[in-house]
Formats: sequence, structure tokens, C-alpha cells
Amino acid sequence: MIQQRTLKNSFSLQGKGLHSGLDIDITFNPAPDNHGYKIKRTDVTGHPVIDALAENVIGTQRGTVLFQDGIYVSTVEHALAALYACEIDNCLIEVNGPEFPILDGSSILYVSKIKETGFEEQDAPRKFVSLKRKRIRIVDKETDSSMILMPGDEFTIKTEIHFDSPLLKMQKAELNDITNFTKEIASARTFVFVKEIEPLIHDNLIKGGNLDNAIVIYDKVLPQPEFDRLADLMGAKHKDASKLGYIMNKPLLYSNELARHKLLDVIGDLALVGAFIKGAVTTVRPGHTINNQFARAIREYYVKEIESKSPAKKEALNIRYDQALGRDKHFYWNRP
Ligand SMILES: [Zn+2]
Repeated sequence: MIQQRTLKNSFSLQGKGLHSGLDIDITFNPAPDNHGYKIKRTDVTGHPVIDALAENVIGTQRGTVLFQDGIYVSTVEHALAALYACEIDNCLIEVNGPEFPILDGSSILYVSKIKETGFEEQDAPRKFVSLKRKRIRIVDKETDSSMILMPGDEFTIKTEIHFDSPLLKMQKAELNDITNFTKEIASARTFVFVKEIEPLIHDNLIKGGNLDNAIVIYDKVLPQPEFDRLADLMGAKHKDASKLGYIMNKPLLYSNELARHKLLDVIGDLALVGAFIKGAVTTVRPGHTINNQFARAIREYYVKEIESKSPAKKEALNIRYDQALGRDKHFYWNRP
């Protein structure tokens, strides 16, 4: 039996919110058995808590936004990908703003902190979702995107991205062993096309965005003054506008870094299933919207076919209060 895990201790990170530009503090805390991932907004009166579950996703435009009881929190996917890939089952995340910090646009700082902190095994068995025979498949005909989960004993994931851009037509990435996430996927940075930046800056939606947290794809020649103005907005040096290319502060880590980042995002969005997935995931043209539809479908299957029938669920309901009190040493304050 594989047991659930939580962090050995708490750890914190600080950074700017991509959309709000606010200085955000985020703390990851140990949590008891069967707690899952939850997010506490410490800047809101009463410190409301949001369950990090697929059905609570309210927005998928520029990152994944969770919403519960009138409170939201956005850009959760890179942190959740790190928790999931490091096989942490239970964590209470405290954040003092409406979004998670963007950091370097990847998951690596979260992963490094989780590894440095270490984990503790808990009493309850890990929750898994696995398919017996049928597959789960989501298709979006408009974007030509698809996501499939096939039955299997291990979690593997393949992704393929396609863009109508001379600099980025198609890239593939795969992860065949979740324990390789740190070295193969965690450092892959997010990216944005130059044509997407102008409206975002205009609408004040990327106040915390700069070349330290994204790769910018310059794939269509602009007049030099316009390119210079965009460079100023991004805090980048002026460059020859006739030369197309990637604009970034650090060179590419992998030739397919962009596909690797999209794979990272899929893992972050699948962390909202509420159980570890066994099986082979194949994604074509993933994006937060279809990722969430896919996570909802897997979660629905999990709740209906596995969780509601599990003996652990029945046992949990029968556990006497006095027994439950002593179950987790991180939660002594529950004692009367
Ligand atoms: Zn991302």
C-alpha cells in the first residue's frame, strides 16, 4: 500500500503576482490525511479556504482560477504541478493575495523547496484513479484539441502543441516517470506571443510580467518604433525589429521547452482531480480550458466509481470523534 504524504514542515516563497503585480507571500503547510490541496486567502477577512478541485475552476483565460464562496485565487497551476509531481497528497497553502506568485514562470522554485523540506508518510492510503476498461476522452472541435486517458498502471503523459507561427509550428514533450519531473519538466518556462502582449499590457493584466518570468515569441515583423515601445513595456533592450526570434533573459533550457511547459500546465490542472492518476494521458493542443474539462471528467469518474464505493470512505464516516482527534500530530489544536 502506498501511503499519503504531507510536507515535513512549512515553507514560504515570495514573488510578484503576474496579473496584479502585487508582492505575494505564499506558505505551504503540512495537512492531515485525506485533506487534499486547499488554499487559504490570508488577506481576506475570516481567512476563507478554497478547495483545489476541478469543479471549483471558474476561469481559464490566462491561468487557472479557482473560486469558492465568493473568493477566488488565480495562477495556481505551477505550484499544484509541483505538489502533484513531488507526490505530496495533502497541503494547506496560505496566500496573502488574489494569485500565486509567478516566480520564474516555471515550477522549479516550488519543487526545490518541496524537496528541501521533505515529506512525511501518513496513515491513510493514497487515493488513486484508474480506469478498468474504458477511456476518458475530451475533444474540442473548435480548437482541434484533444485529451485522452487510457487505462494503465503508471502515470505517463505526452503532449503535442501546434501554433500557426513561423517560429513555433509543432513541438512534442513527454514524461514517462513522474519522478523525472524535476529534471525534465519543472524548469520549463511559460511563453507568450508578442501579439498577445500588447492587449494584455493595455488592459493592465500583466503588471508583474517581464522577461524574467516568460519567453516572448517575436514571430511577425513590427515597425522598429513599435517594437522599441513594446521592448520598453517589457523592460527589454531595444533590438533589431527585422530579426524574428525568442526574446528571453536566459537561453532555452531545452529545444522543446515550450511543449514541456504545456505538459507542466496539464499536470497542474490534473492535480485538481483530487486523486493520483494511473494511466496514459495523451494531449494535443492542451490549454487551461480543455485541461479543466478533462480534469472534471476524470474527477467525476473518480467520485462516482471509486471514492463513493471505497471502504476507506465508509470507514472515515464511522470513525469516532475521539479516535479522529489523535490521528494527526500536525493538528493538535483540534484537541478539546
Ligand atoms: Zn503555465
